Amino acid sequence: MQGVGFRPFVYNLAQSLGLVGYVLNSSAGVHVDIEGDGVAIDRFLLQLRNNPPPLAQIESIEMEDCPAAGYSAFEIRESVDEPGRLAPVSPDVATCADCLRELQDPANRRFEYPFTNCTNCGPPYTITRAIPYDRPLTTMACFPMCADCLREYEDPSDRRFHAQPNACPVCGPSIRLSISEAQRLLHAGQIVAIKGFGGFHLVCDPFNEPAVRLLRERKKRSDKPYALMVRDVASAEKFCFVSAAEHAALTSIRRPIVILRRRPDCPLSEALAPGNNTLGLMLPYTPLHYLLFGGEFSALVMTSGNVSEEPIVTGNREAAQRLGAIADAFLFHNRDIHTRVDDSVSRIFAGSERVLRRSRGYAPHPVTLSFPVAAILACGEQLKNTFCLTKQHSAFLSQHIGDLQNWETFEFYRETLDRMQELFRIKPTVAAYDLHPEYLSTSFATHWRDATEHIGIQHHHAHIASCMAENGITGKVIGVAFDGTGYGTDGKIWGGEFLVANFAGFERRAHLRYVPLSGGDRAVLEPWRMALAYLLDTFGSRLDSLDLPLMHRIPAQKLRVVRPMIERRINTVDTSACGRLFDAVASIIGVRDEVNFEAQAAIELESRALAGIDDAYPFEISGEEIDVRPMIERIVRDVLARKPTGWIAASFHNTIAAIIIEVCSRLRSEDGINRVCLSGGTFQNVYLVERAVSSLRAKGFEVFLHSRVPPNDGGISLGQAVIANALLSR
Ligand code: ZN
Ligand code: ZN
Ligand code: FE
Repeated sequence: MQGVGFRPFVYNLAQSLGLVGYVLNSSAGVHVDIEGDGVAIDRFLLQLRNNPPPLAQIESIEMEDCPAAGYSAFEIRESVDEPGRLAPVSPDVATCADCLRELQDPANRRFEYPFTNCTNCGPPYTITRAIPYDRPLTTMACFPMCADCLREYEDPSDRRFHAQPNACPVCGPSIRLSISEAQRLLHAGQIVAIKGFGGFHLVCDPFNEPAVRLLRERKKRSDKPYALMVRDVASAEKFCFVSAAEHAALTSIRRPIVILRRRPDCPLSEALAPGNNTLGLMLPYTPLHYLLFGGEFSALVMTSGNVSEEPIVTGNREAAQRLGAIADAFLFHNRDIHTRVDDSVSRIFAGSERVLRRSRGYAPHPVTLSFPVAAILACGEQLKNTFCLTKQHSAFLSQHIGDLQNWETFEFYRETLDRMQELFRIKPTVAAYDLHPEYLSTSFATHWRDATEHIGIQHHHAHIASCMAENGITGKVIGVAFDGTGYGTDGKIWGGEFLVANFAGFERRAHLRYVPLSGGDRAVLEPWRMALAYLLDTFGSRLDSLDLPLMHRIPAQKLRVVRPMIERRINTVDTSACGRLFDAVASIIGVRDEVNFEAQAAIELESRALAGIDDAYPFEISGEEIDVRPMIERIVRDVLARKPTGWIAASFHNTIAAIIIEVCSRLRSEDGINRVCLSGGTFQNVYLVERAVSSLRAKGFEVFLHSRVPPNDGGISLGQAVIANALLSR
């Protein structure tokens, strides 16, 4: 990893042990040549392994004996470039304690300077144009260091020795609106666009209802939850419950948005995350953020500076154009953002931090694979796109790209692909893609001229392979792939799948019974359509004799059109997607009939589920088919009997967990496989995951989940890459 203060560390260590030689950065990693007393060299190696600098992660140390060169001192040499080898660039990390102290010290020359950083903190990834990581190849190239900064930069005993973005108020970047003016505007209820590490944020005061409503209106983002930045952990605890593991995630140098359970007495407006019993909070991670919180704010809305689903805005001129209709004011600065990176999102469940959106602080750190891979580009999915480049033992997942349906997002995709190929020097000749014929990533892959081979990969197979690769397992596993949509090998929409799989292939061994999905994309936005499909599948014409509230809520005119479509399967496509079953149940029990973003109904259904309920509904398995009609029948009976929604929601979740246990047990007795991988967007559901995992473990299964790679479609590209690699080597 470059930009983590490794060379100064080596220099200081060698000096303290009286060793001579040199250290340098190359595109192959860090190279050290060292001479001296054997005991001192042993101590050097021990320190290197056990006490590396905070941001360094040593993947391997290779050693070789060389003839003595007769060095007279230890020095840091110029970086060299070794073509074809790779050395990852560090992700951007939060301001360190030393820099924070300087920022708040009136006697320090960096007092209140918003671009304070050192080798232990700051923005390598977003400012780096090319490797090796040296100032001329970053967006800091246009800021020549002043004498004081240069002295720090050249002093091996200084914390800023070779800190590439080193700067101070005399020589470095500067902001355009003052901090106090920004604070004043926020207090007055205005929306301020603030430039950060990887793009702009749109910021407002969360206690100011009209400001929050105005932001929603202007951003055209009706119900999606807004992330908040809080001053410190104590403020977070006023709004949400914070466990020790959540505390650790919040304060980690990666500083993700952490999804936390909202306190019942949380003073913040419900409008920040409607229908949700959680809030996404993060702590300040740049000096600018700390300065903003120097005022009276305990929390600020900090949502991505973009329009609707477009990529986050990075350039000053771009911001003025695209965010001009949303923001009342702009806090610009003149350090360019070379690479666009959103905030990451994490949640702690089933015992670990699990990344749901992998961006700032995580990307572009590679996933290390337990086997060597060819140079492959895996193009990823549609809605939560990431792509993946592989080389040697590393899989470089891109940061979260987003919904490729937008032209701007697709541009972001291509721009990031070009940059990552250059940064990591990967020239793939193989392109892997999803089988869905209409995905932009699919047509991009099949038309990609650089590849001589194009490999189509089934969506749920990729989910399971991603989980295997992340957990370093090979061989056969039972794969449970539950999500909202994925193109099946039979042209139907899958998503409630039990596979027996390895990297090279899979068998589909069980799946939810097919029901007709009507209206294409509209079925996703109108869960009542899925409810109707499940009700008709369960009751047929008997449905008319039931006085179900839902049937009165659907406008008669819509019902007249859609019902015959479902009954006669006209313009419908069969689906076995678990996400659509969540939608159906949410609508049947009256949680939500329409949504304005994917999975909204499922999230609210989970929010409603009462704790401490053990009941579950019946289901049947015949051959490959898992038939949930007995459950739907009982749910309808419970709705008619006015059982509490929270009780039904919990029993429904318990049923899905019971299906997982039952099918996995059958597959284990048939195939003798004891390892289960859970992957797909449905496994972001904390209630379901915790229940399924504990029951599976109680039955002796070895269970694998995602942690550093998202379980949703943001993790698919990794699976595509390792499958393509397995198919190649066969
Ligand atoms: Zn620092
Ligand atoms: Zn300076
Ligand atoms: Fe999926």
